[in-house]
Amino acid sequence: MMMIDLTDSDGELALAGVPEAQILATKGCVHSVETCGTVDGPGIRYVLFLAGCPLRCAYCHNPDTWSPQAGEIKMVETIMAELRRYRPYFTASGGGITVSGGEPAMQAAFLGALFQRCHAEGIHTCLDTSGYCEPAQAELFLDDTDLVLLDIKQADPDKHKALTGVDNERILAFARMLKDRAIPVWIRYVVVPGSTDAPEDIDQLCRLLVGLGGIIRRVTFLPYHTLGAGKREEMGITNALVGVKPPSETAMAAIRAQARQYGLPVE
Ligand code: SF4
Repeated sequence: MMMIDLTDSDGELALAGVPEAQILATKGCVHSVETCGTVDGPGIRYVLFLAGCPLRCAYCHNPDTWSPQAGEIKMVETIMAELRRYRPYFTASGGGITVSGGEPAMQAAFLGALFQRCHAEGIHTCLDTSGYCEPAQAELFLDDTDLVLLDIKQADPDKHKALTGVDNERILAFARMLKDRAIPVWIRYVVVPGSTDAPEDIDQLCRLLVGLGGIIRRVTFLPYHTLGAGKREEMGITNALVGVKPPSETAMAAIRAQARQYGLPVE
């Protein structure tokens, strides 16, 4: 991969001051692309899925994105050339680029370089993330991030670790960075019976979101489903959720109602 010096005069990580040619030549590992997405942010989106994820969510449908090498090496310049072809769709629909994964923050310098070029060309940027990111790394891309789709897996640290394999300290620090920078956030939370659906889980989540204040623009509760189980089986990954059924519509409605009591913008 292209090495760029990201250290500014204070020894902090930064992209400011890096020559444009170097930014355009920054390389990342791209798992796949969806050119006309409509669910990962506003309008029509060019969705880039980056390779690599440090989490191991028990319900992950995309374990094929976990390896940092699970894709094709591409330069920012190449992606920008492709993106420009979709500009009329972005303009007409209020869309732009969404970078997802895997966990895109694992490639923070590439993400920052890409978003910087998007902003230079007036393209709206959206990051779809678990929030599992070192604050110093997040500095590389947050200046050029217009919207964050934050997938909160669990608000409780121990339950988070049991569900994803990592604790959520870093994720909470990332959420505080979003608040400090007033970056708008859409929250997504998967309701998994027995793992994330207890009334106290929802209360804890809601208290966390209320604490983030006005940046929370949308909260979506998604029912756990088993469609990804086949892929996991094929890859020989143990399914910790064997026998867990999707939540009922009634249970989902009760959870949404509970969250609305906190004044949250629940979809
Ligand atoms: S963060 Fe996303 S890609 Fe990573 S394990 Fe969890 S669901 Fe899968």
